[in-house]
Amino acid sequence: MKYLSTRGDAARPGFSDILLEGLAPDGGLYLPERYAPVDAATLARWRRLPYAELAFEILALYIDDIPAADLRGLVHATYTEAVFGTRAITPLRRLADEGAPLYVQALSNGPTLAFKDLAMQLLGRLFEYELGRRGEQLNILGATSGDTGSAAEYAMRGKRGITVFMLSPHGRMSAFQQAQMYSLQDPNIHNIAIEGVFDDCQDIVKAVSGDLAFKRRWKIGTVNSINWARVLAQVVYYFAGYFQATQGNDERVSFAVPSGNFGNICAGHVARTMGLPIHRLVLATNENDVLDEFFRTGTYRPRGTAQTHATSSPSMDIGKASNFERFVFDLVGRDSARTRALFGDALARAGGFTLDPGEFARVPDFGFVSGRSTHADRLATIRDLWQRSGTLIDTHTADGLKVARAHRDPGVPMIVLETAQPAKFAATIRAAIGRDPERPAALADLEQRPRRCTVLPADAAEVRRCIEERAP
Ligand SMILES: *Cc1c(COP(=O)(O)O)cnc(C)c1O
Repeated sequence: MKYLSTRGDAARPGFSDILLEGLAPDGGLYLPERYAPVDAATLARWRRLPYAELAFEILALYIDDIPAADLRGLVHATYTEAVFGTRAITPLRRLADEGAPLYVQALSNGPTLAFKDLAMQLLGRLFEYELGRRGEQLNILGATSGDTGSAAEYAMRGKRGITVFMLSPHGRMSAFQQAQMYSLQDPNIHNIAIEGVFDDCQDIVKAVSGDLAFKRRWKIGTVNSINWARVLAQVVYYFAGYFQATQGNDERVSFAVPSGNFGNICAGHVARTMGLPIHRLVLATNENDVLDEFFRTGTYRPRGTAQTHATSSPSMDIGKASNFERFVFDLVGRDSARTRALFGDALARAGGFTLDPGEFARVPDFGFVSGRSTHADRLATIRDLWQRSGTLIDTHTADGLKVARAHRDPGVPMIVLETAQPAKFAATIRAAIGRDPERPAALADLEQRPRRCTVLPADAAEVRRCIEERAP
């Protein structure tokens, strides 16, 4: 499989070449030249496979430059009961029967209790493999306000050839999130707490990676949400959820997806395009409703950080959805000139765009519907489910459930993707149900563990110096 840029760059790199890169040279995102179609016989065969083998089969359709035996080994080492807590890896829980069954699919049983582990754990092994093959090293520099940074650190810890420098805003993440990251003792993981806010961290990452001489000298890379390998790894659990919710392949299901950067639901779009019988993809936002606005009106109007609200589902506090260009590229018939006009020119010139009516009219063919949820909705949804069934869900999943209920179709099962465990967001859970969420036993003493973290002022020069001192 070769890959193309959504903005029309002429190069056609293979998977291994785009694995360690971010954007395409023309600023576009990489996508496969075509989506691999899955026929009825293949679906029937896949239904019986354990998660890791299903993951291997799906990945192998898009990765032909890693020998199959090696790829299978990497995938099987990733998706184990030891890492994800259950043999099913992403088990379904039935919540209720409201016209048709309503399920929650747990994507949050990995080491950092959020769905990002499902892709990141694989990415860690793919990076280690590819760097080893090339005899190269990589220093990953990132900024985090919570889930992404911890998922990246837990995926990269102890990996050969990889060192991580992760910036986080000093004292501004939840106590759980701070303890989770700062307690890592692995010599290749460096936590840098910046005296500032998340935007300061991001500005420093931009400044350091924008210094091309420094970047080349110290082999600086990233693990951002636009990496195609992350989207691809996420395609797998849509298939796994579908197989658990259905008896045969003539049935359809809908998925509700708590969304921010459009990475998770982009994988659902890929699965549906490959032929998985998905009825609707229900996109849920919180008060930061850029994507809901688009799916209601056809206008995409990204917000700056100043207009992005801090909410109680913080991992969805996103003003600009970095994976959204992939979907629009498909929506406009994979027209790269049109995509470039929208995302390259219109965004830069006017700060947004409105699709032509003919383009927007195609959205239903892609299965997408949307809705938004507020702090009050979140609390009410968590409390109501808890009181009625004793099931506790986190704040992001609550946004998904709230919006899912507005988009039920008779006879079609609905699967709400659980993107985090309630233990990560204890303060809001306490506000909703009046008690603390339970936490996995292995993390009981998390806050008491010794910490390894360097505090630095919000100054790119200091961070550069830190990298020079510690990078191998
Ligand atoms: C990252 C994240 C999201 C948003 O996912 P996107 O892929 O950015 O749309 C939702 N919930 C949780 C808990 C997350 O960590």
